[in-house]
Amino acid sequence: MRTTADTPLDLLIVGAGPAGLSAADAARREGLNYLVIEKGLIAQTIYQYPIGRTVFSTPNELELREGALRPCREKPTREELLSHYVRFALDERLKIHAEEEVTRIERDDAAEGFFVETTRGQYRVACVLLATGAMAHPRRLHVPGEDLPKVRYLFDEPYPYVNKDALVVGGGNSAAEAALFLAEEGARTTLAIWRSDWENRDPKKNAIKHWVRAPLEEQLAANRLRLVLFTEVLEITEGHVHLRQDNGSVIVLDNNAVFVLIGNDADFTLLGRLGVEIVPAGLTQVPIYDPETFETNVPGLYVAGHFTHSRHIKEAIAVPRRIVPLIAQSLRATV
Ligand SMILES: Cc1cc2nc3c(=O)[nH]c(=O)nc-3n(C[C@H](O)[C@H](O)[C@H](O)COP(=O)(O)OP(=O)(O)OC[C@H]3O[C@@H](n4cnc5c(N)ncnc54)[C@H](O)[C@@H]3O)c2cc1C
Repeated sequence: MRTTADTPLDLLIVGAGPAGLSAADAARREGLNYLVIEKGLIAQTIYQYPIGRTVFSTPNELELREGALRPCREKPTREELLSHYVRFALDERLKIHAEEEVTRIERDDAAEGFFVETTRGQYRVACVLLATGAMAHPRRLHVPGEDLPKVRYLFDEPYPYVNKDALVVGGGNSAAEAALFLAEEGARTTLAIWRSDWENRDPKKNAIKHWVRAPLEEQLAANRLRLVLFTEVLEITEGHVHLRQDNGSVIVLDNNAVFVLIGNDADFTLLGRLGVEIVPAGLTQVPIYDPETFETNVPGLYVAGHFTHSRHIKEAIAVPRRIVPLIAQSLRATV
């Protein structure tokens, strides 16, 4: 068991996504005694993007060091981005324990810090920065059959579904991209989407990106993709899916695989147990924190990344660069 019980850390960063890596880089520059704990792999969320996917953002919005991410085309692929984050962590010798999960954080008032328990050890720390992202809980349909092995909540690649009947459920970019990849590579693909999502063309309201939509429409025109404007999935069985269309009629589709890509929610268990208030924000929830310092109502407990109001990679990287020097300042002030 790893333990730092006798030598408290200045800062424990939970999560090695873009936010956690940026925080580690900033902590290293500040000379803090820090550690990142990551339950999966370095940049686990990017690792889970579809294989070969081109990312939406440009290199300057994604890179941890200016000019360090040099993709072959204008925007990097999943592999180029993943390689950039992993190489950065290795080259900068960031202190990261991967495949170790933080399971408990308790305020230690006597020591004016925190006691942190993980699947591999225990740590005493002065400050904690939670950068755990918002991928913990894929949203479910809550219908009979959704636990069948053919129902998946992540899309990684189309090739296992060639010549099979695949249904994608969802109205965002992840669902649209999965339907596109499946249709292009020869799965008999249906996209079930709410009419409001299909008719949404407003980029400010999360409309499907035009560079996904245009080839998707080509697949529709070529009859390689079927679009179902639906209101609800009624049931999933071994060989079929029952859907209610938005005209009220029920259709039954032959089916070998279902991809439910309707979003994910963060896990707020650690924050909730510490007494941080979580409030609704649109379709999701966010913790309450100071908009300047990103400190929560628990002194010494900070948040950053996709489960705050600062979403996407650009902000996940920018915020820790601003707040870690403030954390370092407050630590120096208490010495
Ligand atoms: C398919 C897809 C495509 C996307 N495309 C883009 C894009 O083109 N451009 C863009 O800007 N954004 C994109 N995003 C969003 C982007 O991935 C997120 O904004 C970004 O990953 C947020 O970074 P983060 O560090 O906050 O969280 P994450 O990258 O999710 O990192 C959080 C980390 O915390 C770890 N963790 C969680 N709980 C614990 C625990 N208890 N103990 C230890 N570790 C823990 C997780 O394993 C994870 O590695 C996309 C997302 C998806 C799903």
